[in-house]
Amino acid sequence: MVDLWFDPSKCFIGGHWVPPLGGQTLELENPSDGSTLCAIARGNREDVDAAVAAARSALNSDWGALPAFERGRLLTKIGRMVLERIDALAEMEALDVGKPLKQARNDVVALARYMEFYGGAADKIMGETIPFLPGFTVYTLREPHGVTAHIVPWNYPMQIIGRSIGGALAMGNAAVLKPAEEACLTALAFADICNEAGLPKGALNVVPGLGEEAGAALSGHSDIDHISFTGSVPVGAMIQEAAARNIVPVTLELGGKSPQLFFEDADLDKALPFLVNAGIQNAGQTCSAASRILVHRARYDEVVSRMAERYAALRVGPAMADLDLGPMISARQKEVVSGFLASVDKAMIVAEGQVVPDVPAKGHYLAPALVAGVSGDHRLAQEEVFGPTQVVIPFDGEDEAIAIANGTPFGLVAGLWTADGGRQMRLARRIRAGQVFINNYGAAGGVELPFGGVGKSGHGREKGFEALYGFSVLKTVAAHHG
Ligand code: NAP
Ligand code: MG
Repeated sequence: MVDLWFDPSKCFIGGHWVPPLGGQTLELENPSDGSTLCAIARGNREDVDAAVAAARSALNSDWGALPAFERGRLLTKIGRMVLERIDALAEMEALDVGKPLKQARNDVVALARYMEFYGGAADKIMGETIPFLPGFTVYTLREPHGVTAHIVPWNYPMQIIGRSIGGALAMGNAAVLKPAEEACLTALAFADICNEAGLPKGALNVVPGLGEEAGAALSGHSDIDHISFTGSVPVGAMIQEAAARNIVPVTLELGGKSPQLFFEDADLDKALPFLVNAGIQNAGQTCSAASRILVHRARYDEVVSRMAERYAALRVGPAMADLDLGPMISARQKEVVSGFLASVDKAMIVAEGQVVPDVPAKGHYLAPALVAGVSGDHRLAQEEVFGPTQVVIPFDGEDEAIAIANGTPFGLVAGLWTADGGRQMRLARRIRAGQVFINNYGAAGGVELPFGGVGKSGHGREKGFEALYGFSVLKTVAAHHG
């Protein structure tokens, strides 16, 4: 059981905790021991209808009337309140997702940072005046879309809610959030904090439930004006189809097969923690996981052996034990990742971490595995695994490195390790990705940095100031005054 100050078997709609209209609940699992944490609401189409209606009415009342700087103040206050609850939120997330406590604490800080960032930005998005014909004054207004739908996954609930809801509320939209059925506690806790902070009723609504039920009802709803989806490619395609039917814009933050490129002149001591952490953080269940490490042949053996040393020292255990890795989110996810690992010759697994002794038998533990020697077209080098495994692939020069790096359907993030400034600039342009990191990877989350993919990694940008353009719509006003 987990200690909660709100009732997770209810939906949060129109500023109130309400039981799901279908009267049904789902069990929420603790992946560290397989126990049931609590019952959560199984929202259905009627609950989604009520949430969308509540959001619509918020736009026409207190929330819609709030000046931008007041929205900003509220978001900033929510950020502060999130930080005040860091212990409770981190424990909740650790138990729900199975992530080590320190990672969960980082996620709380990120959620607070998004609220601060978007709180500060809320009154700084401006239109323009446009030089035009004599007798005219032409200007642009940035307005909210209206009701925004947010469908988020289970791997980083707080971070993804922060970037998505934070940006939408900053621009004055009213949001309906469908968290993942496998981890939704912090979404509900966040709604409660927003309520306590004084967020006007209906500005944020949360309907937990199943993807194919509540999620499909929300993404196909005829009265939403924008969809922000973070999740897998197949579901992303369904969301885009649903959006097309209602002609609403959609932001898709999907998967990846992100590479880090390590050149012969790079500093291995500096790179090593980033090479490994970016693969095993959150048990590899990270959209921007660096699941491919491409290494210049001159340094290949050295990099493989140094990474192998690190892998051998990795420890996996319950989230609250706060080791390097927690369990996988579910038995199903563990099975998927095990299937990938079974598809390579055992000799290619050059190092494995260890599941600590006496972990609960019903937890979904999996040792991280470093794989070397697979060909570039192997499924482990092409498909998103979403588990704690990385492949190391050699290359001989820039052209080959770029060909391998760009040789998947994805393009989310890439890392470049090289001391050569010219190469840094050349390759940052040639790599197909939404973010490129030079001599680092991930920039510690980078709330301020626009994020999103190309290709099968999706389209649209969240995070940073850029997200605010996506969460608003431009209106051109042309006044003829003679
Ligand atoms: P998923 O199965 O696509 O689920 C994501 C969300 O969509 C969940 O809330 C899910 O609800 C909901 N959903 C499922 N079926 C739906 C449907 N038919 N209609 C509407 N909504 C539906 O993804 P996941 O397995 O949870 O998450 C892992 C994936 O997310 C990976 O591919 C990862 O790369 C990607 N991801 C991307 C980013 C990014 O920023 N680019 C960040 C994190 C994760 P239920 O969970 O209740 O089914
Ligand atoms: Mg859970």
